Amino acid sequence: MSVVQTPWQAGTECVANYDFQQKADQDLPFSKGEVLTIVAVTKDPNWYKAKNKVGQVGFIPANYVQKREGVKSGTKLSLMPWFHGKITREQAERLLYPPETGLFLVRESTNYPGDYTLCVSCEGKVEHYRIIYKSGKLTIDEEAYFDNLMQLVEHYTNDADGLCTNLTKPKLMEGTVAAQDMFSQSGWALKMKDLKLLQIIGKGEFGDVMLGDYRGSKVAVKCIKNDATAQAFVAEALVMTQLRHKNLVQLLGVIVEDKSSLFIVTEFMAKGSLVDYLRSRGRSVLGGECLLKFSLDVSEGMEYLEDNNFVHRDLAARNVLVSEDNIAKVSDFGLTKEASATQDTSKLPVKWTAPEALREKLFSTKSDVWSFGILLWEIYSFGRVPYPRIALKDVVPRVEKGYKMDSPDGCSPVVYEVMKQCWNVDPNQRPSFRKLREQLEHIKANELFQ
Ligand code: ADP
Ligand code: MG
Repeated sequence: MSVVQTPWQAGTECVANYDFQQKADQDLPFSKGEVLTIVAVTKDPNWYKAKNKVGQVGFIPANYVQKREGVKSGTKLSLMPWFHGKITREQAERLLYPPETGLFLVRESTNYPGDYTLCVSCEGKVEHYRIIYKSGKLTIDEEAYFDNLMQLVEHYTNDADGLCTNLTKPKLMEGTVAAQDMFSQSGWALKMKDLKLLQIIGKGEFGDVMLGDYRGSKVAVKCIKNDATAQAFVAEALVMTQLRHKNLVQLLGVIVEDKSSLFIVTEFMAKGSLVDYLRSRGRSVLGGECLLKFSLDVSEGMEYLEDNNFVHRDLAARNVLVSEDNIAKVSDFGLTKEASATQDTSKLPVKWTAPEALREKLFSTKSDVWSFGILLWEIYSFGRVPYPRIALKDVVPRVEKGYKMDSPDGCSPVVYEVMKQCWNVDPNQRPSFRKLREQLEHIKANELFQ
């Protein structure tokens, strides 16, 4: 019996696992790491018609490439899958049973809060090494010091350096998957050697954003600061593997090669954030047609998220980026979770967040619609900060009583009507992104934006 593999559909993305040299005229040569898009199946299931990044089309052998897939949501990806948190010495020993020299895990120290313990199985016995946290660094022997646990584990993987053995096999925390493995298995891992970091182009909450060159294309690279935030990056990248739309900033891949650094590589958005774009150009440069185009772009990206049950949670002009050809795309999926998850409300951008989300953590597509209304207001006021002249502490009480911002100067009344619908205190009364997109298209078609 033979197993029939479902053929890949047109539009499927693949990454090359090997170099492929052209053998026949119609073959499409490629090199390892290149991303190709399937254009059509052929009569031979071992060959596909595919397109490369610069639009050349030809035949490719299926066994040279790997299908790229969205990482399944709900997967708990961890950069430190060997970290088991607060477990006791006895629990650690049970986890490292049956004995296997080099099998290890890290736990929080029970005797010394704030410190960690490295537990290693060694010739039938488990050794517990105390990891001391000393003036911002971690150390076992007070000779070798590390910035974080990932670096420490990497060091003792390469070299026993005084331990009973080097670390050979992580004991994985139940239910977690090593982020490194997941990204390479699903085809999203890129190679550091293919990436050149050129210059800093932005400062993010998590670290610098850099302009890079990846195999000849300009890319943006989010660089990690330390291991606590690295985990948040992993969550962001995980979400991005599942999303593909012309109005969402596209993930190109992730680099998790050396264990102490993480890079998220996305398409480069040459004109930067929408809020800066609006502020720097202003009313004299940007006409009504252009403002409406940005509004429509964002509504289309958000409609895609709505259709796929993703809630953004941090939609604002600062998180929309503008491409070289003036297309606005939604970015910053750091807070994006699949609908229904809840989160810490203390760090929320008050002026952009719907009242029910602030009050009861009720995040939904409808709370994104509220933020979209604020974003429209930002667009039509050329990047002003919302609720001007109202102190931050007064915003929520006034909004809850039904206060709505005035129309920005010169904003067409039909567009202001759209904003006001988004700011309905009852989330169920707000329009869907689909409706919003239709309304904006109607405004565009009838040239009501002046
Ligand atoms: P964070 O939300 O973590 O603070 P952002 O993703 O918003 O970080 O990035 C910070 C800044 O870096 C943005 O405001 C923008 O100026 C720049 N930036 C981020 N991503 C890109 C990109 N893909 N292309 C160009 N510039 C970018
Ligand atoms: Mg941001």
